[in-house]
Amino acid sequence: MKKRGGIIAVVLCVAVLAAAIVGDFLFSRNNSTNFTAMNTVVSLDITGFDSSAAVKKIKEEILYLDEYLLSRTNEKSEIYAVNNGKTQITAELAKILFDLKRLEAATDGAFCIGLAQLSDLWGIGTENAAVPDEADISAAIRNSSAWQTDKQTVTLPGNIKLDLGAAGKGIACDYAFNTLSQLKCKQAVVAVGGSILLYADKPDTRFRVGVRDPLGSANEYCIILDAQPGCISTSGNYERFFEDENGNTWHHIFDPSTGYPAQSGLLSVTVAAQSGTVSDALSTACFVLGLERSLPLLEKYNADAIFITQDKEIITTYENAEEIITVTNDSYSLGEIK
Ligand code: AMP
Ligand code: MG
Repeated sequence: MKKRGGIIAVVLCVAVLAAAIVGDFLFSRNNSTNFTAMNTVVSLDITGFDSSAAVKKIKEEILYLDEYLLSRTNEKSEIYAVNNGKTQITAELAKILFDLKRLEAATDGAFCIGLAQLSDLWGIGTENAAVPDEADISAAIRNSSAWQTDKQTVTLPGNIKLDLGAAGKGIACDYAFNTLSQLKCKQAVVAVGGSILLYADKPDTRFRVGVRDPLGSANEYCIILDAQPGCISTSGNYERFFEDENGNTWHHIFDPSTGYPAQSGLLSVTVAAQSGTVSDALSTACFVLGLERSLPLLEKYNADAIFITQDKEIITTYENAEEIITVTNDSYSLGEIK
């Protein structure tokens, strides 16, 4: 009898161990994919029991957001319809526009989604990029923040059309976060162009994130950041620009108060926040505002930022910068907020 009990105990132990190994194997299942949406490359890398379902669902959602909701160039999208006279909007778009309106107010208009006309006028990123006439610039920015929304409608002043290009990638990260939370996922990196969601079911997880060298090529980094879970977005003057006949370069992030590309002494700004909508909108706003004027805004949203200045200084609000930021290119130096 004694011997039988011993055998049962051993069998049970083996069964428990096998279940643990199978469980561990299932929960550490990894799935990844790359595709194009929102005029950029999207990459998903997800670990967890439901990683396969999560990859499928998040891909579908991002393609849906791009095609049916946020794009201003796709005729099937709701923003396209709004820009062409539609005023009654879905609750889904109303919520997004409501959040963006709040961000416009919080940034004193440095982030402004009413700049589609201005973007078209400059044509940056197209074959027709050129410095427009002063009068056309003034007309394009007039009323740019005067669009209104409530829970069901949106109203645009006559000359204004919406461009969600500075927040759409962050919005996609927030959709991905919701899906990852609903499914059984342990860890994920969702990169939508310059906005990245770092997801982990354990808050003490750390991710190594490369911050692009704004003077280097697309896959060159100048910083490695040890980041906590959350969203990180970068805005930089290298993303889209053109050179005029006098050799001046003009980039794609506009100062809504002048209608010209922002001149705030920065090459790029990287913002880390809990939400992707916030990190994306703030990275654009901070690029416009420049370092000093960005600080109260970042504090308000409990966000951190890494500024890379035109003097090749790296200045950050992270209190533990020396521990979590590694400068990997000697031509940049870590400076301090003065
Ligand atoms: P991002 O790369 O997120 O900073 O977004 C830049 C894109 O947003 C540009 O290519 C424009 O389409 C649009 N944009 C430019 N300036 C602004 C601004 N001040 N506020 C909001 N959107 C802007
Ligand atoms: Mg942005």
